[in-house]
Amino acid sequence: MEHAAEDLRAAGLRVTRPRLAVLAEVAAHPHADVETIATGARARLGSLSTQAVYDVLHALTAADLLRHIEPAGSPARFELARGDNHHHLVCRACHDVVDVPCATGEAPCLQASDDAGYLIDEAEVTYWGLCPACLAATATTAAAGATARAAAAPPPRHRAGESDPRITTP
Ligand SMILES: [Zn+2]
Ligand SMILES: [Zn+2]
Ligand SMILES: [Zn+2]
Repeated sequence: MEHAAEDLRAAGLRVTRPRLAVLAEVAAHPHADVETIATGARARLGSLSTQAVYDVLHALTAADLLRHIEPAGSPARFELARGDNHHHLVCRACHDVVDVPCATGEAPCLQASDDAGYLIDEAEVTYWGLCPACLAATATTAAAGATARAAAAPPPRHRAGESDPRITTP
């Protein structure tokens, strides 16, 4: 918490209880969405309006204390800015977000095939896929589906010679 107060002062921001609460929540829940942060900050402070949470998030992001990410189809999420240019793995099924270090170590990680005269300073990299839990759930569902189909299939015909009363063995 003292750390957070120093960070605020270093960024030229006044140290306020809402700012400390939001920083503490984001530190405790990396990649949290606004609702999660607001609920946690409210629990710490007793009360805090959603608008106040947005204001704090905006100020902290503008001061580079927080990093804002917004994977497609997911609400805005926040994490402490570490200046490490790390990237994210996002699960398509449950929207879980996990940090992954930059493969090249510094921005921009990808060279544009044509920079069109721009001075490029960042390539935004998001890896999409299925997290281990969703992958396991998918595999289980698929297996269950296969079992259900097998059970629904008509039983195999009796082979000749088996205990089928219609077949008379000579
Ligand atoms: Zn998942
Ligand atoms: Zn992250
Ligand atoms: Zn990278």
